[in-house]
Amino acid sequence: MMLGQGGFKFLNWAQTYGSNPELYFQPTCVEEVKEILDLARQRSKRVKVVGGGHSPSDIACTDDFMIRMDKMNKVIKIDKDKKQVTVEAGILLTDVNEVLNKNGLALSNLGAVSEVTAGGVIGTGTHNTGINHGIMSTQVLSLTMMTSSGEMLECSESINADIFQAARLHLGSLGVILTVTLQCRSAFHLKEVQFSSTVQEVLDNLDTHINSCEYFRFGWFPHTESVTVFCQDPTDKPPSSVANWFRDRLMVYYLLEFLLWISTFISSLVPAINRFYFWLLFAGRNERIAVSYKMFNFDCLFKQYVQDWAIPIEKTQDALMQLKSWLERNPQVVAHFPVEVRFVRGDDILLSPCYQRNSCYMNVIMYRPYGKDVDHRDYWSEYEKIMKGVGGRPHWAKAHTCTRKDFEKMYPGFSKFNTIREKLDPTGMFLNSYLEKVFY
Ligand SMILES: Cc1cc2nc3c(=O)[nH]c(=O)nc-3n(C[C@H](O)[C@H](O)[C@H](O)COP(=O)(O)OP(=O)(O)OC[C@H]3O[C@@H](n4cnc5c(N)ncnc54)[C@H](O)[C@@H]3O)c2cc1C
Repeated sequence: MMLGQGGFKFLNWAQTYGSNPELYFQPTCVEEVKEILDLARQRSKRVKVVGGGHSPSDIACTDDFMIRMDKMNKVIKIDKDKKQVTVEAGILLTDVNEVLNKNGLALSNLGAVSEVTAGGVIGTGTHNTGINHGIMSTQVLSLTMMTSSGEMLECSESINADIFQAARLHLGSLGVILTVTLQCRSAFHLKEVQFSSTVQEVLDNLDTHINSCEYFRFGWFPHTESVTVFCQDPTDKPPSSVANWFRDRLMVYYLLEFLLWISTFISSLVPAINRFYFWLLFAGRNERIAVSYKMFNFDCLFKQYVQDWAIPIEKTQDALMQLKSWLERNPQVVAHFPVEVRFVRGDDILLSPCYQRNSCYMNVIMYRPYGKDVDHRDYWSEYEKIMKGVGGRPHWAKAHTCTRKDFEKMYPGFSKFNTIREKLDPTGMFLNSYLEKVFY
């Protein structure tokens, strides 16, 4: 009999959200997952599965039963010919990356960190950048899950296709994801060219920039005109020393945390900090080469608040200029750097923020130096207003104030998803307070 642990306290990576599950489970196999769901049914408890716990919101929180999937973390099958991998859902992408690399394969895209799980990244629609690349869920070819009744269900484009269209971005609301099969590509190195520019130049030539390389993104430094551009393309050349690149900059990041901490007492320092850091780290041009997954990932050293909405790509200029002018008109509000702007191909996944449209993600950030809370309420509410005004959809992992009424307007497939969810989970076993706001 699978035993749950009492007294466990769950905290997400940024330590911004947490909960006290009544019982905490770490199953090692499908039979144990079934036992937990059986027990939950008998006791009328809700269940929340947690992956890497990286979501900067309460999406993975529960006070009932929590299942952490870290012991269901194996690579089940690699098909080198088809360039496909099947993994257990609790595996960290750090492990997937290493195993794939040893087999001459790689994921074609990744978010900024890999200490996240295969089941978790497709729970919230994790994305990176590259206008010919979709969110990570688009790499999923099939998956298996256990529904609230304890039944196993498989889905793909050809099996339970409707459920597949929902489950590729599942919000943790459809069942316990057990395995995921992902389309990969041959292992590759990436060359990154990073150069400085201005907001005006990048926005004036946005189409050219977006199409100038496979993975294009830029970061704007609020309270300045400065922008840093990142262009990444596959290369046959060997890696340059990425490890040193980061180590050499560690002192610079420690200083940044200290300066940001001081700015929590004197907020008017923030624009100068942004300017100083642009000059120190991003002015001029740099090139480096690394194996793909090391290039996609970077060190997010400090805890932070983030918001990240996907807007129609043609609204990029409008939205960024609105945010910039609002900050200029309201100098009492400060914004940390960078506002990270990424571009993602549209897809047909029911609750994907990129559903049926190429999108621009505009990620805003407020660091929490040494874990200290920083006031970001005015910044966040104006940002949300602008994003909503241009037809945006919030990243599911990241805190937002939207509710069912908003999602019904934003997502043509919202009621279809909800119907599938109610069929798979008629008693709402997999709901929590985050999901109640989404579905009720
Ligand atoms: C430092 C940092 C950098 C980040 N960078 C990016 C980025 O570049 N791009 C981006 O889009 N996002 C980014 N994120 C957000 C992150 O990718 C998402 O929050 C992602 O969902 C985290 O995966 P996880 O395994 O930690 O999932 P969790 O946060 O643990 O869970 C996410 C959701 O999936 C559900 N879930 C997890 N596993 C299962 C399972 N097996 N079965 C059923 N439900 C499950 C949970 O219940 C929850 O609803 C970043 C977050 C951090 C903290």
